[in-house]
Amino acid sequence: MRQYIIAGNWKMNKTVSESVELAKAIVEAVKDVKKTEVVIAPTYLAAAKVADVIKGTNVKLAIQDIHWKDQGAFTGKVSVDMVKEIGAEYIIIGHSEQRQYFHETDETVNLKVKKTLAAGIKPIICIGETLDERNGGKLESVLSTQVKGAFKDVSAEDAAKCVLAYEPVWAIGTGVVATDEQAQDTQAFVRSVVKEIYGEAVAEGMRIQYGGSMKPGNAAGLLAQKDIDGGLIGGAALKADTFKGIIDAAEAR
Ligand code: PEP
Repeated sequence: MRQYIIAGNWKMNKTVSESVELAKAIVEAVKDVKKTEVVIAPTYLAAAKVADVIKGTNVKLAIQDIHWKDQGAFTGKVSVDMVKEIGAEYIIIGHSEQRQYFHETDETVNLKVKKTLAAGIKPIICIGETLDERNGGKLESVLSTQVKGAFKDVSAEDAAKCVLAYEPVWAIGTGVVATDEQAQDTQAFVRSVVKEIYGEAVAEGMRIQYGGSMKPGNAAGLLAQKDIDGGLIGGAALKADTFKGIIDAAEAR
C-alpha cells in the first residue's frame, strides 16, 4: 500500500513569526496522525525556524525550490546543501508557478531532481496542463513530456524515491477543482508513463499527489481514487484547521 502524503505549500505567504505560529498549530493538530505523511513547505526565510518547531514531531519539512548548482553567483537562490543542513526531507520542483513566472523548463526540473536525489532528499515533482492544452487535446502529450523530462537519466532506484504531484494549472488557486474522475483518469495515465519508463514495480510504488483547490470538502472524494495518493495543498494549507481537515480525509481511508 502506498502511504498518503499531504503536503502544504505555503508559497509566498506568512512572515517568519506567522510561519512559526502556523507550524506550532499544525504540530498540535496532527500529533495523533499515524498513517499519513504530513509535510509543510514554508518560505526560505522561515524554513530554519520552522525546522526547529517541527523537530522530533511527525511533521516533515519541504523546501519550495532549489538551484541545481552547489554555490556561487546566483543571487536570490539557495543550494541543496543549505536546505539539507536544516533538515529538509523534500524539495518541491517544477511547480507551475515556477514554470509560468520563473522560466522553469523540463531541463531545469531534471537538473534539480538529480541534484536533490544526490543529496539524499526526496523531490516532489510537479506536472500539469493548462486549460488550453487540455481542451486542445494535448493533455497526454504534455504530461508525458513533463514526466519523461523530469526523469531523464534518473535511475529506477532513485525514481522510486520521488513523489509526483499532478496539478492541473487551471485548478491551482482558482477554486475550480478537477472532478474525482478527471483526476483519477489523468493520474492513471501519469502512472502508465512511469510504468513505460521504469516498469510495473516502480510505477505501482510511486506516490502521485493531486493538487489544485483541494479542500476538506472535496478531499475525501479525490483521495478515494485508486491513483491519488495524497495532496499538494496551497490555500487550504495556510490554516491549521483546513489543512487538518484534508489530513483527516486521508487518515479515514
Ligand atoms: C498549489 O499551488 O500547489 C496548489 C495546489 O494550490 P491551491 O491548493 O491553492 O489550488
